Amino acid sequence: MTDDLLQLTPSGLYCAAGDFYIDPWQPVDHAVITHAHADHARPGSQRYLTTPTGAQVLAPRIDEGASIRTLPYGERLSLQDVTLSLHPAGHLLGSAQVRVERGGEVWVVSGDYKAEQDQTCEPFEPVRCHTFITESTFGLPIYRWQPQAEVFAEINDWWRANQGAGRTSVLYAYALGKAQRLLAGVDSTIGPILVHGAVLPFVQRYRDAGINQPDVLYANAEHARTHRGRARW
Ligand SMILES: [Zn+2]
Repeated sequence: MTDDLLQLTPSGLYCAAGDFYIDPWQPVDHAVITHAHADHARPGSQRYLTTPTGAQVLAPRIDEGASIRTLPYGERLSLQDVTLSLHPAGHLLGSAQVRVERGGEVWVVSGDYKAEQDQTCEPFEPVRCHTFITESTFGLPIYRWQPQAEVFAEINDWWRANQGAGRTSVLYAYALGKAQRLLAGVDSTIGPILVHGAVLPFVQRYRDAGINQPDVLYANAEHARTHRGRARW
């Protein structure tokens, strides 16, 4: 037996003192979800806990009618022997770090996170803790990103040049989070924007949460035919 606040189990990170899992790999009774990406939020659990905006994008990803309880950022929830709170992770709409405290000892699970702010989600907030469990997919120092404004300027220049040559531009992005970040950042006056069916429902959910998203069309065959290479709607 270990007295650690969180333990790694076959179903994922488990907090015995509060009887919940964080981003469990298997269906469990109580799942605390850092964010709605498929490698963190899986269907089949009895009850989910996430942020209010996180719930908006989590709902379509799990079983219809599954119980989702929401906890606003920074609010404290007592679960048996621990106090749990969620804090912005800056990764996508509603993404959270999970803070777990017991008797003055604090652990934080980051989930995916991004310290740089963007306009499509709540900005990352550092949380003091004794033990930090982190995701670090791009944590290696070899990863150095250009400023977002430069990336979007490049994308817009490329799109305009393609437009001038009568070519359609295609951008690939993860359907939830990255696609909405791209939509918020590109210059939508350049031409019509068509999106894949997997992207479309999340665009509306971002709008519902007050995030700026341009007008888009579902990329079906008819719309693709009508708008191919067009400079205007
Ligand atoms: Zn993610």
